[in-house]
Amino acid sequence: MTDIRIQNLTKSFGSTIALDNINLYVASGELFFLLGPSGCGKTTLLRSIAGFYTPNEGQISFGGNNVTKLPPHRRKVGMVFQNYALWPHMTVFQNVAFGLENNKTPKAQIKNLVCGILEKVQLIQYMSRKPNELSGGQQQRVALARALVVHPKCLLLDEPLSNLDAQLRNDMRCEIRNICKEHKLTTIYVTHDQKEALSIADRIAVFSKGKIDQIGTPTQLYKFPSSCFTAEFVGETNIIQGVIVQVGSGEAIVRTKIGNFRGILSIGIKDPRPGRKVCISIRPECLRLNDFPNPENSVRGVIGSVTYFGEVAHFKFEREGVVLRISELNPNHFLNVQNKGMYANVSSEDVVILGTD
Ligand code: ATP
Repeated sequence: MTDIRIQNLTKSFGSTIALDNINLYVASGELFFLLGPSGCGKTTLLRSIAGFYTPNEGQISFGGNNVTKLPPHRRKVGMVFQNYALWPHMTVFQNVAFGLENNKTPKAQIKNLVCGILEKVQLIQYMSRKPNELSGGQQQRVALARALVVHPKCLLLDEPLSNLDAQLRNDMRCEIRNICKEHKLTTIYVTHDQKEALSIADRIAVFSKGKIDQIGTPTQLYKFPSSCFTAEFVGETNIIQGVIVQVGSGEAIVRTKIGNFRGILSIGIKDPRPGRKVCISIRPECLRLNDFPNPENSVRGVIGSVTYFGEVAHFKFEREGVVLRISELNPNHFLNVQNKGMYANVSSEDVVILGTD
Protein backbone atom coordinates (compact mmCIF):
# COMPACT_ATOMS: atom_id res chain seq x y z
CA MET A 1 0.00 0.00 0.00
CA THR A 2 1.51 3.29 -1.15
CA ASP A 3 0.22 6.82 -1.31
CA ILE A 4 1.27 9.19 -4.10
CA ARG A 5 2.05 12.87 -3.61
CA ILE A 6 2.63 15.29 -6.49
CA GLN A 7 4.08 18.67 -5.55
CA ASN A 8 4.46 21.72 -7.80
CA LEU A 9 4.90 19.56 -10.90
CA THR A 10 5.60 21.36 -14.17
CA LYS A 11 6.38 19.76 -17.53
CA SER A 12 6.92 21.54 -20.85
CA PHE A 13 7.54 20.28 -24.36
CA GLY A 14 9.28 23.19 -26.12
CA SER A 15 6.90 26.12 -25.73
CA THR A 16 3.91 23.88 -24.75
CA ILE A 17 3.29 23.81 -21.00
CA ALA A 18 1.67 20.38 -20.64
CA LEU A 19 1.54 20.48 -16.80
CA ASP A 20 1.42 23.77 -14.93
CA ASN A 21 2.26 23.52 -11.23
CA ILE A 22 0.23 20.41 -10.38
CA ASN A 23 -0.38 19.50 -6.73
CA LEU A 24 -2.35 16.44 -5.72
CA TYR A 25 -2.48 13.63 -3.20
CA VAL A 26 -3.72 10.11 -3.90
CA ALA A 27 -4.35 8.07 -0.75
CA SER A 28 -3.18 4.50 -0.36
CA GLY A 29 -5.68 2.12 -1.99
CA GLU A 30 -7.59 4.93 -3.68
CA LEU A 31 -9.00 4.66 -7.23
CA PHE A 32 -8.22 8.16 -8.49
CA PHE A 33 -9.17 9.52 -11.93
CA LEU A 34 -7.53 12.16 -14.11
CA LEU A 35 -10.38 13.45 -16.27
CA GLY A 36 -10.28 16.11 -18.97
CA PRO A 37 -10.54 16.88 -22.67
CA SER A 38 -7.92 15.87 -25.23
CA GLY A 39 -4.59 17.65 -24.82
CA CYS A 40 -5.13 18.86 -21.22
CA GLY A 41 -2.09 16.99 -19.82
CA LYS A 42 -3.52 13.77 -18.34
CA THR A 43 -1.17 11.36 -20.12
CA THR A 44 1.81 13.62 -19.46
CA LEU A 45 1.09 13.45 -15.73
CA LEU A 46 0.61 9.66 -15.81
CA ARG A 47 3.86 9.16 -17.73
CA SER A 48 5.69 11.49 -15.34
CA ILE A 49 4.44 9.38 -12.41
CA ALA A 50 5.59 6.20 -14.21
CA GLY A 51 9.01 7.77 -14.85
CA PHE A 52 8.84 7.99 -18.66
CA TYR A 53 9.01 11.81 -18.52
CA THR A 54 11.29 13.93 -16.34
CA PRO A 55 9.46 16.97 -15.02
CA ASN A 56 11.02 20.44 -15.38
CA GLU A 57 10.12 21.22 -11.79
CA GLY A 58 8.43 19.61 -8.82
CA GLN A 59 8.46 16.33 -6.93
CA ILE A 60 6.72 12.95 -7.06
CA SER A 61 6.70 10.78 -3.92
CA PHE A 62 5.53 7.21 -3.36
CA GLY A 63 4.88 6.34 0.28
CA GLY A 64 6.86 9.40 1.39
CA ASN A 65 9.92 8.55 -0.76
CA ASN A 66 10.97 10.98 -3.47
CA VAL A 67 11.00 9.01 -6.77
CA THR A 68 11.29 11.98 -9.14
CA LYS A 69 14.71 10.92 -10.38
CA LEU A 70 14.19 7.14 -10.32
CA PRO A 71 14.02 5.32 -13.70
CA PRO A 72 10.66 3.61 -14.52
CA HIS A 73 11.75 0.04 -13.64
CA ARG A 74 12.78 1.09 -10.11
CA ARG A 75 9.43 2.73 -9.32
CA LYS A 76 7.54 -0.59 -9.21
CA VAL A 77 4.45 0.73 -10.96
CA GLY A 78 2.21 -1.36 -13.19
CA MET A 79 1.02 0.43 -16.30
CA VAL A 80 -1.73 -0.45 -18.77
CA PHE A 81 -1.64 1.49 -22.03
CA GLN A 82 -4.49 2.48 -24.35
CA ASN A 83 -3.49 -0.10 -27.00
CA TYR A 84 -2.50 -2.72 -24.34
CA ALA A 85 1.03 -3.00 -25.88
CA LEU A 86 1.01 -6.82 -25.72
CA TRP A 87 3.80 -8.68 -27.50
CA PRO A 88 2.12 -10.27 -30.54
CA HIS A 89 4.60 -13.17 -30.91
CA MET A 90 4.18 -14.30 -27.28
CA THR A 91 1.36 -16.35 -25.77
CA VAL A 92 -0.85 -14.99 -23.02
CA PHE A 93 1.25 -16.90 -20.46
CA GLN A 94 4.52 -15.52 -21.85
CA ASN A 95 3.17 -11.96 -21.98
CA VAL A 96 2.15 -12.12 -18.34
CA ALA A 97 5.35 -13.91 -17.25
CA PHE A 98 7.65 -11.41 -18.95
CA GLY A 99 8.03 -8.98 -16.04
CA LEU A 100 8.68 -11.82 -13.57
CA GLU A 101 11.36 -13.35 -15.81
CA ASN A 102 12.95 -9.93 -16.13
CA ASN A 103 13.29 -9.57 -12.38
CA LYS A 104 14.68 -13.14 -12.13
CA THR A 105 11.80 -14.74 -10.23
CA PRO A 106 12.40 -18.55 -9.93
CA LYS A 107 10.63 -20.58 -12.67
CA ALA A 108 8.30 -22.59 -10.38
CA GLN A 109 7.15 -19.41 -8.68
CA ILE A 110 6.53 -17.74 -12.08
CA LYS A 111 4.17 -20.56 -13.04
CA ASN A 112 2.21 -20.22 -9.79
CA LEU A 113 1.99 -16.43 -9.96
CA VAL A 114 0.99 -16.30 -13.64
CA CYS A 115 -1.64 -19.04 -13.29
CA GLY A 116 -2.99 -17.35 -10.15
CA ILE A 117 -3.49 -13.99 -11.82
CA LEU A 118 -4.89 -15.56 -15.01
CA GLU A 119 -7.49 -17.36 -12.85
CA LYS A 120 -8.40 -14.04 -11.30
CA VAL A 121 -8.98 -12.30 -14.64
CA GLN A 122 -10.72 -15.45 -15.97
CA LEU A 123 -8.24 -16.16 -18.74
CA ILE A 124 -6.60 -19.37 -17.55
CA GLN A 125 -8.12 -21.36 -20.44
CA TYR A 126 -6.57 -18.94 -22.96
CA MET A 127 -2.99 -19.03 -21.67
CA SER A 128 -1.57 -20.68 -24.82
CA ARG A 129 -3.22 -18.27 -27.24
CA LYS A 130 -1.52 -15.35 -28.97
CA PRO A 131 -3.02 -11.83 -28.53
CA ASN A 132 -4.50 -11.82 -32.07
CA GLU A 133 -6.57 -14.89 -31.09
CA LEU A 134 -8.32 -12.93 -28.32
CA SER A 135 -11.16 -10.39 -28.25
CA GLY A 136 -10.47 -6.75 -27.28
CA GLY A 137 -11.81 -7.34 -23.76
CA GLN A 138 -9.65 -10.44 -23.29
CA GLN A 139 -6.54 -8.58 -24.50
CA GLN A 140 -7.35 -5.82 -22.04
CA ARG A 141 -7.48 -8.37 -19.21
CA VAL A 142 -4.10 -9.81 -20.29
CA ALA A 143 -2.64 -6.30 -20.09
CA LEU A 144 -4.15 -5.90 -16.63
CA ALA A 145 -2.83 -9.31 -15.50
CA ARG A 146 0.65 -8.43 -16.80
CA ALA A 147 0.62 -5.18 -14.82
CA LEU A 148 -0.68 -6.85 -11.63
CA VAL A 149 1.47 -10.00 -11.54
CA VAL A 150 4.62 -8.16 -10.40
CA HIS A 151 2.75 -6.80 -7.34
CA PRO A 152 3.15 -3.14 -8.26
CA LYS A 153 3.13 -0.43 -5.61
CA CYS A 154 0.58 1.35 -7.71
CA LEU A 155 -1.31 0.85 -10.94
CA LEU A 156 -1.45 3.44 -13.74
CA LEU A 157 -4.14 3.05 -16.40
CA ASP A 158 -4.17 5.17 -19.56
CA GLU A 159 -7.60 5.03 -21.26
CA PRO A 160 -7.62 1.23 -20.75
CA LEU A 161 -11.13 0.73 -22.16
CA SER A 162 -10.98 2.98 -25.21
CA ASN A 163 -10.83 0.12 -27.72
CA LEU A 164 -13.86 -1.75 -26.38
CA ASP A 165 -17.52 -1.56 -27.37
CA ALA A 166 -20.04 0.08 -25.04
CA GLN A 167 -21.33 -3.09 -23.32
CA LEU A 168 -17.85 -4.47 -22.66
CA ARG A 169 -16.69 -1.08 -21.36
CA ASN A 170 -19.46 -1.19 -18.76
CA ASP A 171 -18.55 -4.73 -17.67
CA MET A 172 -14.82 -4.01 -17.57
CA ARG A 173 -15.25 -0.82 -15.51
CA CYS A 174 -16.70 -2.81 -12.63
CA GLU A 175 -14.10 -5.54 -13.05
CA ILE A 176 -11.25 -3.01 -12.88
CA ARG A 177 -12.68 -1.46 -9.73
CA ASN A 178 -13.08 -4.90 -8.12
CA ILE A 179 -9.49 -5.90 -8.95
CA CYS A 180 -8.06 -2.60 -7.65
CA LYS A 181 -9.99 -2.83 -4.40
CA GLU A 182 -9.26 -6.53 -3.89
CA HIS A 183 -5.51 -5.92 -4.31
CA LYS A 184 -5.75 -2.66 -2.29
CA LEU A 185 -3.93 -0.95 -5.14
CA THR A 186 -3.36 2.77 -5.33
CA THR A 187 -4.60 3.38 -8.86
CA ILE A 188 -4.49 6.40 -11.15
CA TYR A 189 -6.78 6.10 -14.14
CA VAL A 190 -6.75 8.49 -17.12
CA THR A 191 -9.88 9.03 -19.19
CA HIS A 192 -11.77 11.70 -21.11
CA ASP A 193 -15.03 9.77 -20.52
CA GLN A 194 -16.88 11.37 -17.62
CA LYS A 195 -19.28 8.43 -17.25
CA GLU A 196 -16.36 6.06 -16.77
CA ALA A 197 -14.96 8.35 -14.07
CA LEU A 198 -18.27 9.04 -12.31
CA SER A 199 -19.24 5.38 -12.18
CA ILE A 200 -16.18 3.87 -10.48
CA ALA A 201 -13.87 6.59 -9.09
CA ASP A 202 -13.25 7.26 -5.42
CA ARG A 203 -12.14 10.78 -6.40
CA ILE A 204 -11.55 12.63 -9.66
CA ALA A 205 -9.24 15.51 -10.66
CA VAL A 206 -10.73 17.50 -13.54
CA PHE A 207 -8.01 18.91 -15.79
CA SER A 208 -8.13 21.91 -18.07
CA LYS A 209 -5.17 23.22 -20.07
CA GLY A 210 -2.44 21.69 -17.92
CA LYS A 211 -4.05 22.70 -14.60
CA ILE A 212 -6.38 21.04 -12.12
CA ASP A 213 -9.77 22.73 -12.21
CA GLN A 214 -11.36 20.80 -9.32
CA ILE A 215 -10.78 17.66 -7.24
CA GLY A 216 -13.65 15.82 -5.59
CA THR A 217 -15.74 12.69 -5.27
CA PRO A 218 -18.12 11.96 -8.19
CA THR A 219 -21.07 13.41 -6.23
CA GLN A 220 -19.18 16.55 -5.20
CA LEU A 221 -18.16 17.26 -8.79
CA TYR A 222 -21.60 16.58 -10.22
CA LYS A 223 -23.70 18.29 -7.56
CA PHE A 224 -21.33 21.08 -6.59
CA PRO A 225 -19.03 22.00 -9.49
CA SER A 226 -16.83 24.99 -8.69
CA SER A 227 -16.52 26.32 -12.25
CA CYS A 228 -18.46 26.42 -15.52
CA PHE A 229 -15.76 24.22 -17.04
CA THR A 230 -16.29 21.37 -14.55
CA ALA A 231 -20.09 21.81 -14.60
CA GLU A 232 -20.10 21.39 -18.39
CA PHE A 233 -17.43 18.70 -18.61
CA VAL A 234 -18.81 16.43 -15.88
CA GLY A 235 -22.29 15.64 -17.18
CA GLU A 236 -24.72 17.75 -19.17
CA THR A 237 -25.86 21.11 -17.90
CA ASN A 238 -27.62 24.37 -18.76
CA ILE A 239 -25.46 27.45 -18.17
CA ILE A 240 -27.27 30.79 -17.95
CA GLN A 241 -25.55 34.17 -17.51
CA GLY A 242 -26.84 36.53 -14.82
CA VAL A 243 -26.17 39.05 -12.07
CA ILE A 244 -26.47 38.55 -8.30
CA VAL A 245 -29.31 40.65 -6.83
CA GLN A 246 -29.38 39.34 -3.26
CA VAL A 247 -26.96 37.30 -1.12
CA GLY A 248 -27.91 35.06 1.84
CA SER A 249 -26.05 32.44 3.83
CA GLY A 250 -24.46 30.10 1.24
CA GLU A 251 -27.09 31.08 -1.31
CA ALA A 252 -28.06 33.98 -3.55
CA ILE A 253 -30.71 35.18 -5.98
CA VAL A 254 -29.51 35.70 -9.54
CA ARG A 255 -31.32 37.78 -12.17
CA THR A 256 -31.12 36.26 -15.66
CA LYS A 257 -32.72 37.07 -19.01
CA ILE A 258 -35.39 34.42 -18.33
CA GLY A 259 -36.17 35.27 -14.69
CA ASN A 260 -34.77 35.19 -11.17
CA PHE A 261 -33.30 32.02 -9.69
CA ARG A 262 -32.42 31.25 -6.08
CA GLY A 263 -29.44 28.89 -5.90
CA ILE A 264 -26.43 27.65 -3.97
CA LEU A 265 -23.18 29.64 -4.11
CA SER A 266 -20.40 27.37 -5.37
CA ILE A 267 -17.16 27.08 -3.39
CA GLY A 268 -15.29 28.49 -6.42
CA ILE A 269 -17.07 31.84 -6.42
CA LYS A 270 -15.01 34.77 -5.19
CA ASP A 271 -16.58 37.75 -3.47
CA PRO A 272 -20.30 37.09 -4.07
CA ARG A 273 -22.14 40.43 -3.80
CA PRO A 274 -25.09 42.15 -5.47
CA GLY A 275 -24.11 43.38 -8.93
CA ARG A 276 -21.51 40.66 -9.52
CA LYS A 277 -21.74 38.88 -12.88
CA VAL A 278 -22.15 35.11 -12.48
CA CYS A 279 -23.63 32.15 -14.28
CA ILE A 280 -25.96 29.45 -13.01
CA SER A 281 -25.77 25.75 -13.80
CA ILE A 282 -28.92 23.59 -13.84
CA ARG A 283 -28.78 19.90 -14.83
CA PRO A 284 -31.42 18.85 -17.43
CA GLU A 285 -32.87 16.21 -15.08
CA CYS A 286 -33.38 18.82 -12.31
CA LEU A 287 -35.82 20.88 -14.40
CA ARG A 288 -39.42 19.62 -14.21
CA LEU A 289 -42.01 20.41 -16.86
CA ASN A 290 -45.42 21.40 -15.50
CA ASP A 291 -48.62 23.25 -16.39
CA PHE A 292 -48.25 25.30 -13.19
CA PRO A 293 -45.41 27.44 -11.84
CA ASN A 294 -43.54 26.94 -8.56
CA PRO A 295 -43.60 29.92 -6.15
CA GLU A 296 -39.99 30.64 -7.24
CA ASN A 297 -37.41 29.30 -9.77
CA SER A 298 -40.04 28.94 -12.46
CA VAL A 299 -39.80 29.83 -16.17
CA ARG A 300 -42.70 30.09 -18.61
CA GLY A 301 -41.60 28.96 -22.09
CA VAL A 302 -42.38 26.88 -25.16
CA ILE A 303 -41.36 23.30 -25.92
CA GLY A 304 -39.28 23.45 -29.12
CA SER A 305 -38.49 19.79 -29.68
CA VAL A 306 -39.02 16.42 -28.07
CA THR A 307 -36.64 13.47 -28.53
CA TYR A 308 -38.03 10.20 -27.24
CA PHE A 309 -35.68 7.43 -26.05
CA GLY A 310 -38.20 5.10 -24.35
CA GLU A 311 -37.34 5.38 -20.67
CA VAL A 312 -36.44 9.06 -20.99
CA ALA A 313 -37.25 11.98 -23.30
CA HIS A 314 -35.18 15.11 -23.98
CA PHE A 315 -36.87 18.45 -24.50
CA LYS A 316 -35.67 21.78 -25.82
CA PHE A 317 -37.53 24.49 -23.95
CA GLU A 318 -37.24 28.09 -25.12
CA ARG A 319 -37.77 31.47 -23.55
CA GLU A 320 -36.38 34.80 -24.85
CA GLY A 321 -33.90 33.03 -27.16
CA VAL A 322 -32.47 31.00 -24.22
CA VAL A 323 -32.80 27.25 -24.83
CA LEU A 324 -32.92 24.94 -21.80
CA ARG A 325 -32.35 21.21 -22.14
CA ILE A 326 -34.72 19.22 -19.95
CA SER A 327 -34.93 15.47 -19.48
CA GLU A 328 -37.92 13.61 -18.06
CA LEU A 329 -37.82 9.99 -16.94
CA ASN A 330 -40.92 7.92 -17.74
CA PRO A 331 -42.08 10.61 -20.18
CA ASN A 332 -45.30 9.07 -21.49
CA HIS A 333 -47.56 11.96 -20.52
CA PHE A 334 -45.22 14.51 -22.19
CA LEU A 335 -45.22 13.13 -25.73
CA ASN A 336 -47.57 15.59 -27.42
CA VAL A 337 -46.23 18.79 -25.96
CA GLN A 338 -44.29 20.19 -28.92
CA ASN A 339 -44.98 23.95 -29.38
CA LYS A 340 -46.97 23.94 -26.12
CA GLY A 341 -46.49 26.67 -23.52
CA MET A 342 -45.39 25.17 -20.17
CA TYR A 343 -43.45 25.94 -17.01
CA ALA A 344 -39.99 24.61 -16.24
CA ASN A 345 -39.54 24.45 -12.45
CA VAL A 346 -36.39 23.75 -10.47
CA SER A 347 -35.71 23.66 -6.75
CA SER A 348 -33.08 26.01 -5.38
CA GLU A 349 -30.73 23.23 -4.21
CA ASP A 350 -30.38 22.17 -7.86
CA VAL A 351 -29.24 25.62 -9.03
CA VAL A 352 -25.47 26.20 -8.62
CA ILE A 353 -24.12 29.74 -8.87
CA LEU A 354 -20.67 29.88 -10.47
CA GLY A 355 -18.12 32.60 -11.12
CA THR A 356 -17.52 33.76 -14.68
CA ASP A 357 -13.69 33.96 -14.36
P1 ATP B 1 -5.44 12.86 -24.87
O1 ATP B 1 -6.72 12.64 -24.09
O2 ATP B 1 -5.72 13.33 -26.28
O3 ATP B 1 -4.48 11.71 -24.81
P2 ATP B 1 -3.99 14.32 -22.78
O4 ATP B 1 -4.86 15.09 -21.86
O5 ATP B 1 -3.49 13.01 -22.31
O6 ATP B 1 -4.71 14.15 -24.20
P3 ATP B 1 -1.22 14.99 -23.19
O7 ATP B 1 -0.94 13.84 -24.11
O8 ATP B 1 -0.70 14.90 -21.82
O9 ATP B 1 -2.79 15.29 -23.16
O10 ATP B 1 -0.69 16.32 -23.89
C1 ATP B 1 -0.65 17.58 -23.23
C2 ATP B 1 -0.04 18.61 -24.20
O11 ATP B 1 1.36 18.30 -24.36
C3 ATP B 1 -0.64 18.62 -25.59
O12 ATP B 1 -0.66 19.96 -26.05
C4 ATP B 1 0.32 17.78 -26.40
O13 ATP B 1 0.32 18.18 -27.75
C5 ATP B 1 1.65 18.07 -25.73
N1 ATP B 1 2.56 16.91 -25.78
C6 ATP B 1 2.37 15.71 -25.20
N2 ATP B 1 3.42 14.87 -25.41
C7 ATP B 1 4.30 15.57 -26.17
C8 ATP B 1 5.58 15.27 -26.73
N3 ATP B 1 6.16 14.08 -26.54
N4 ATP B 1 6.18 16.24 -27.46
C9 ATP B 1 5.60 17.44 -27.64
N5 ATP B 1 4.41 17.80 -27.13
C10 ATP B 1 3.76 16.89 -26.42
